[in-house]
Amino acid sequence: MAAAVASRRCVGLCFSGSLGQLAGQGNVSQIVKRSLSRTHNVLSVYKMVVVGGGAGGCATAAHFCREMGKGHVAIIEPSETHAYQSMWTLVGAGLKTLGQSQRPMSSVLPSKCDWIKESAVKFDPENNSLTTSSGKQIQYDYLVVAAGLQLNYDQVKGLTEALQSDPQVCSNYHAQYVTKTFPALEAVQSGNAIFTFPNTPIKCAGAPQKIVYLGEEIFRNKGTRDKIDVIYNTSLNVLFAVEKYAATLRNIVQKRHIKVNYRHNLVEVKPDSREAVFQLLDSEKGETTTFSYSFLHATPPMSAPDVVRSSPLVNADGWVDVNKHTLQHTQFPNVFALGDCTNLPTSKTAAAAASQCGVLKHNLSAVIKGKQPTHSYDGYTSCPLVTGKNKCVLAEFDYDGHPMETFPVDQSKERWSMYQMKAHVMPQLYFHGLLKGIYEGPAMFRKVMHLGMGEKKH
Ligand SMILES: Cc1cc2nc3c(=O)[nH]c(=O)nc-3n(C[C@H](O)[C@H](O)[C@H](O)COP(=O)(O)OP(=O)(O)OC[C@H]3O[C@@H](n4cnc5c(N)ncnc54)[C@H](O)[C@@H]3O)c2cc1C
Repeated sequence: MAAAVASRRCVGLCFSGSLGQLAGQGNVSQIVKRSLSRTHNVLSVYKMVVVGGGAGGCATAAHFCREMGKGHVAIIEPSETHAYQSMWTLVGAGLKTLGQSQRPMSSVLPSKCDWIKESAVKFDPENNSLTTSSGKQIQYDYLVVAAGLQLNYDQVKGLTEALQSDPQVCSNYHAQYVTKTFPALEAVQSGNAIFTFPNTPIKCAGAPQKIVYLGEEIFRNKGTRDKIDVIYNTSLNVLFAVEKYAATLRNIVQKRHIKVNYRHNLVEVKPDSREAVFQLLDSEKGETTTFSYSFLHATPPMSAPDVVRSSPLVNADGWVDVNKHTLQHTQFPNVFALGDCTNLPTSKTAAAAASQCGVLKHNLSAVIKGKQPTHSYDGYTSCPLVTGKNKCVLAEFDYDGHPMETFPVDQSKERWSMYQMKAHVMPQLYFHGLLKGIYEGPAMFRKVMHLGMGEKKH
């Protein structure tokens, strides 16, 4: 009992003093992690806690584990499996297998971090603490939030039931449903093949239309194209946010007779009659229109996870509220965030998370040393717009929608080489560079490719 009380007191003292004591000290090995069992919960203290072991969280934890050593960084992640989700576009088109996109979580998380195989269920940033699903209380000096997005399939009436019961309804956004896409594409003989884009921010905003192009190509190769209407119903009013790439995509949809219906938002699926109901977003009377389908690829509405949305960490729109350049939280200076769950006004991609990680690690290291953030994120993001099984438009741009192309060629053109990058080079960069906290995006390559002279403006 005496030991427990002493230990508990030390937890309080270690923690309450540590932020101040550490400023300028930078000697993390002096921080002692202690744990003790209480009647109802377990209290652990870490120098750094990372929430989420996806692209951004894994990369960040890998870097700081190297810097701080064993036992000082905890990563909270409930999933047994890590997925390279970017590959799911190719899985949906039958060009890769789901297995190629997945690794056991234990094999990608850094060995020097403590993996707490649970969800964070409550954030208490005023007290530098959070609670996990088993009721464990974790205290930290520094918190990094990288909890990704929640897929809200249930916000579309009938969609979950349709995904579970109708073989012709699929979704590349979920490990369970992405393997339905290719068989469903192959099975279509005639009728409407419908692809949707929801009325919320989503991860990889290009992915809902990449599968349109791949699907259309599959129909052509199978000889069924003439009997199938390929329809892309999107909530947006443009094909792509950056005009340079949107122009190419408009040409492609015109040339390949893909019908695009803007401002159409999927609100209901009726698997029994194979009908999909769309809200017409520009209708003042809230009108809807119904399409019959013989194939439906649904991209679900998305949000930050509920537990993040209900925490003091978010802005009014429910996104973790960080400074768009430093990635430091606007209210809690010992909290940083990166990736899809943030308010960063750029396209939510793993490529963006890689660049963000590069900035975050410098800035968080500076803050740990009692200094000001030194690096600034420019909004870099990238979207390999696969337009066929050997073609890709590699979109790269910043916060202002200015292209930031890595290669000294016009990347708005469909290219075989960019497909090879997407299918073969990027997975290597992801698993062997990003997840190990080494790859920080292509800024260095871009400089080299443009002979250090800044990129060519197209
Ligand atoms: C079909 C598809 C195609 C894509 N294509 C591309 C592409 O071509 N290029 C590209 O760059 N990006 C692409 N992306 C997007 C990319 O996968 C994401 O942007 C990237 O994974 C974001 O990283 P993240 O760390 O923010 O989130 P994630 O990688 O999603 O990781 C979030 C992690 O947080 C965990 N988590 C959630 N809630 C909690 C909690 N309460 N407690 C603890 N842990 C929690 C989750 O289990 C998950 O492991 C694509 C995505 C999809 C689905």
